[in-house]
Amino acid sequence: MSWEARADLLVVGTGVAGLTAALRAQSLGLRVLVVTKAAAEDGNTRWAQGGVAVVLPGQHDEGDTVDRHVADTLVAGAGLCDEDAVRAIVHGGPAAVTHLLALGAVFDPGPDGKLARTREGGHSAFRVVHAGGDATGAEVERALLSATRDGQVPVLENHVAVQALKTPSGAVAGLHVLDPSGVPGVLTASAVLLATGGLGQLYQATSNPEVATGDGLALALRAGAPVADVEFVQFHPTVLYTGQGARGRCPLVTEAVRGEGAVLVDATGARVMEGVHPLADLAPRDVVAAAITRHMALERGGIDDHVFLDATHLDAATFRTRFPTVYSACLTVGVDPVVSPIPVAPAAHFACGGVVSDVDGRTGLVGLYAAGEVASTGLHGANRLASNSLLEGLVVGARAAEAVFADLASGRLADPGLAVVPDLPVAPVADRDSLQRVMSRYAAIGREAEGLAVVGSVLDVSAVDRVLDSRIAVEDAALTLVSRALIASAWARRESRGCHVRTDFPERDAGWARSQLVRLTPTGQPVLGNVTALRGAA
Ligand SMILES: Cc1cc2nc3c(=O)[nH]c(=O)nc-3n(C[C@H](O)[C@H](O)[C@H](O)COP(=O)(O)OP(=O)(O)OC[C@H]3O[C@@H](n4cnc5c(N)ncnc54)[C@H](O)[C@@H]3O)c2cc1C
Repeated sequence: MSWEARADLLVVGTGVAGLTAALRAQSLGLRVLVVTKAAAEDGNTRWAQGGVAVVLPGQHDEGDTVDRHVADTLVAGAGLCDEDAVRAIVHGGPAAVTHLLALGAVFDPGPDGKLARTREGGHSAFRVVHAGGDATGAEVERALLSATRDGQVPVLENHVAVQALKTPSGAVAGLHVLDPSGVPGVLTASAVLLATGGLGQLYQATSNPEVATGDGLALALRAGAPVADVEFVQFHPTVLYTGQGARGRCPLVTEAVRGEGAVLVDATGARVMEGVHPLADLAPRDVVAAAITRHMALERGGIDDHVFLDATHLDAATFRTRFPTVYSACLTVGVDPVVSPIPVAPAAHFACGGVVSDVDGRTGLVGLYAAGEVASTGLHGANRLASNSLLEGLVVGARAAEAVFADLASGRLADPGLAVVPDLPVAPVADRDSLQRVMSRYAAIGREAEGLAVVGSVLDVSAVDRVLDSRIAVEDAALTLVSRALIASAWARRESRGCHVRTDFPERDAGWARSQLVRLTPTGQPVLGNVTALRGAA
């Protein structure tokens, strides 16, 4: 049994990037079809807490400007951002957020009736707008999904994208997809947009939900599109510590709690961030996560596997209304955050790298586009500035739909009728449990050559070739391939920069101020390339 459907644009993913793209594409008159491997609301977007970083006209701190937001993004990115991409995306923010509000998203008002704003790590001003206190992603997802349903944009839930279909000339012109029963089907289209989100499930403990398995990166690599900056996985400094050996999605304690005055302390009550960085507890995330890890290992001699976020001096009623999600998550582990410090530890949170693409979502392959967390536009460099990713999804999602429209009109895209349908792919699949264990042990914060080699050996020994004929096989193959790409990049980068901390090369090296590209050889091995004019070529 098999099935078939056709559209102008196939969007993979129902997070902020995919839904924004689908809505914009439909408004331009394109026939758009959205597929997602789970329920429509499953993805990183709905879990976003802190907010969207944006400098809105007439609604900003005195002296704050879009250019200051650009400057903060560049500092956080530790020398690896693409400045043109940063400018384009950050400057697109005000219009994108205004459009989201017009769609019906409800953000929290401040006492002056304008939007309330908070501050997060690395930001030099209060410019993060939020919804539902600390439930911004849920509101963004709700508003976009409701507009999608109102506009009757078709969404196929529980359909997993397996591989890109290509024409004989090498253009992407569709997808192989498994339906909820695992029956393979063919979707053809002139353009495919990957909006498949992140890869937090590479690690044992993560803020990401179960769907974040790096599928889009694997699909793009196998189709022949390069990925870049994959060694830069941001660990969120403050994920709720739920006990030794925590697994899977762990609740986040948003950085905005520190923005409102909470501080990190160890078991003795000593401040963790004092003297580490001029912004102390509000230093960029890579700095705070590495400082906590160092503090636990050195100051506390490795006896602690978590620290505490002390918010007990904040007003109790304000905490409950401003951070309802955090408050209720803390109560579930028996901690009342207005009375006791919150136990926290760093956990895998955000993929700074991804499929190489420009700010219009174009990748190196005709017909293949990428937007959101799966993409590497150059916005995040070696470390994402807090709350810049919902912004990226909103801006690049819309721009990618416009790029597809323009490319269709100019005849750049292939006739989907020419798509060749091969057999389902066969790929190496490692045991997920072992993979997550070695990735957490050797490829998290604090990596060194020997440990990275151990991960490579474990993957080599445990991986077996499998036909990708189920969602779990697709995910496990993606985790295996993305781990390999990450390990290769992390091993080669003999310096510490942003989220990539090498204990055997602890200093930043100016000679490494460049992105690394990963491609697959014809036999499926990841190989590294140097990147010159990287995104210009995309
Ligand atoms: C706990 C948490 C808090 C965060 N807080 C913030 C914040 O305050 N501000 C901010 O800017 N960012 C925040 N982020 C990051 C931000 O939420 C994400 O980067 C962003 O939402 C990603 O959106 P996306 O559209 O790229 O992907 P997602 O929202 O992750 O959506 C991915 C979609 O792709 C689908 N998919 C994946 N693989 C396949 C496949 N093979 N076939 C079919 N479908 C597939 C998934 O099912 C899902 O629908 C946070 C993230 C987390 C986890």
